[in-house]
Amino acid sequence: MKKYNFYAGPAILPDAVLQEAAKAIHDFDGMGLSLLEISHRSPNFTKVMEEALSLSKELLGASDDFAAMFLTGGASSQFYMAAMNLLNRSDTASYINTGTWSSKAIKEAHLFGKIVEAASSKEDGYRFIPKELNIPKESVFLHYTSNNTIFGTQFHQLPETDIPLIGDMSSDIFSRPVELDKHGLIYAGAQKNMGPAGTTLVLVRKDLLGRIKQTLPTMLDYNTHIQKSSMFNTPPVYAVYVSLLTMRWVAQLGGVEEMAKRNARKAQLLYQEIDANPLFEGYAYKEDRSLMNVTFTIADAGLEEDFVSTCTENGIIGIKGHRSVGGFRASIYNAMPYEGVEKLVEVMQDFTKRNG
Ligand SMILES: *Cc1c(COP(=O)(O)O)cnc(C)c1O
Repeated sequence: MKKYNFYAGPAILPDAVLQEAAKAIHDFDGMGLSLLEISHRSPNFTKVMEEALSLSKELLGASDDFAAMFLTGGASSQFYMAAMNLLNRSDTASYINTGTWSSKAIKEAHLFGKIVEAASSKEDGYRFIPKELNIPKESVFLHYTSNNTIFGTQFHQLPETDIPLIGDMSSDIFSRPVELDKHGLIYAGAQKNMGPAGTTLVLVRKDLLGRIKQTLPTMLDYNTHIQKSSMFNTPPVYAVYVSLLTMRWVAQLGGVEEMAKRNARKAQLLYQEIDANPLFEGYAYKEDRSLMNVTFTIADAGLEEDFVSTCTENGIIGIKGHRSVGGFRASIYNAMPYEGVEKLVEVMQDFTKRNG
């Protein structure tokens, strides 16, 4: 039976990418050697890194004002690294708190500057995206989480401000066009919508670096990685390579504009069913619903486990909700085909017929 992977992360990758990635384990680039055993300084790999850096910028429409990096330590390391590279202790920065990941970013940033919560949706279980912002005018940047992987909300309009935005785009990078010129920095862990776990893409506006007084440890300074094209030390070669394959796949299909169309179509199909089906209910406010992580609950909590096992029997894998929300979460990233969502909807309808 065909299985559809709805896990939130590490998450589904396109079949074509997995096949190409498997080949590179045995014989990379016709070298007769595995990608896992060659020097990262070999021309065959430096070519991969160069293309990955340039293609990431191309897909996002980044100008030469931006530098791209593939780093390690996950998106979680960017929670402190971004603040550390952009703030002096006396500086102020604003953050929008829309859930678990934002809260973690805020906690880390407190170590490096005066951090203000410009808005929060905590009061209602992070079901919505706050629109009213309270941003002190001396803020160096405004940090937001473009897609809230756990609660299933997403910014459909950028937060309104004139200061540079910092976006944690871990779970919706390359899913839609981004107004990059409004951003000072964006980052995304690979394992949601870009590749396997192990690397994090960062794009930073170069003119924002160099404003801090403190000297940073070499590995934590963005300048190190920019100057060495993400090859200061050994990069996670395989994660970068598979991320490159995924970016090529996005580019071939028509780029982020085409991804946005496909993602809207998939999300619409699923939300339509959630709204029509008397057994299920959406978790997030309608206007702020995520096109990537669809969160929903079941009217009769006694049926929750039953629904998950029915899904599993039908090849629908990984839709149990995050422990902090409960219910279900269907992650429908770029690589999820329309047929996967159709299958889930069919299972929901059958389940309701039997239990409604
Ligand atoms: C998964 C996730 C993170 C954490 O990523 P790690 O790579 O595990 O550190 C941060 N932000 C968002 C929005 C995420 O979805």
